[in-house]
Amino acid sequence: MPSVRLAVLALVVLLAAAGLARARPLQDPTPIPTATPAPTPLPGATAAPAPTPLPGATAAPTPLSAGSPPDFAEIVWNRSRALGQPFSHGRLVDGVQLPELGEDFFTWDPIFNRIPNRPWRRWGTDRLIRTLLEVIHAYRAEHDSVPRVGIMDLSRTQGGPFGPRYGGLGHSSHQNGLDADVLYPRADGLERRAYKPSLVDQQLAQDLVDRFVAAGAQKIFVGPHLHLHGPHNVVVALVYHDDHMHVRIHNVTR
Ligand SMILES: [Zn+2]
Repeated sequence: MPSVRLAVLALVVLLAAAGLARARPLQDPTPIPTATPAPTPLPGATAAPAPTPLPGATAAPTPLSAGSPPDFAEIVWNRSRALGQPFSHGRLVDGVQLPELGEDFFTWDPIFNRIPNRPWRRWGTDRLIRTLLEVIHAYRAEHDSVPRVGIMDLSRTQGGPFGPRYGGLGHSSHQNGLDADVLYPRADGLERRAYKPSLVDQQLAQDLVDRFVAAGAQKIFVGPHLHLHGPHNVVVALVYHDDHMHVRIHNVTR
């Protein structure tokens, strides 16, 4: 019966072929490229959440806020004591050093006329440093893109006399960490000393004076050729102050 044998043979071949076909995916581990299409994002849908910026990272210049001055972070704080008087027998105990540069300020050496001021001329009580930086930060937050404010001499590392032997005319006060010389903002916006009255931006300078008054300054000496004003017992015109204001804070004992 050759035809039956032929049919059986054909069936066996067919079954073997079918078996091979079924077995083929197991034998071939290569994935079929179109087997699992990636999900297509909907138009406008965000594929992944935006990365969260790290704290302190700034991709673009951040607008100033009137909060805590960023320059506080660079300072080694102490609880300082101002002994004696600013102008006699003054000493500074556990003073705080103002850094040479900050986001809101630069320091200016009044003898060499350059940035920065020398390290030993930049010491004050913690209250003085805090007052300076809070006032200057609030001023810069209020006025868009004004230059940094220049700070000249404070006191020596441990206070004491700061007379002519330390350069220039010297200071009769600045002895116990309560005094600071602050440069007037310049009309041309340069971060330098305004060495003559015509260079001073009077409006910005008055705003700084007002802010130091509001912060409770005891005395602010200003140039007699400038037109700066304030409470008559606080804001006082004094010779040699046309190129900087001298701010003195109260000695608060604690
Ligand atoms: Zn001074």
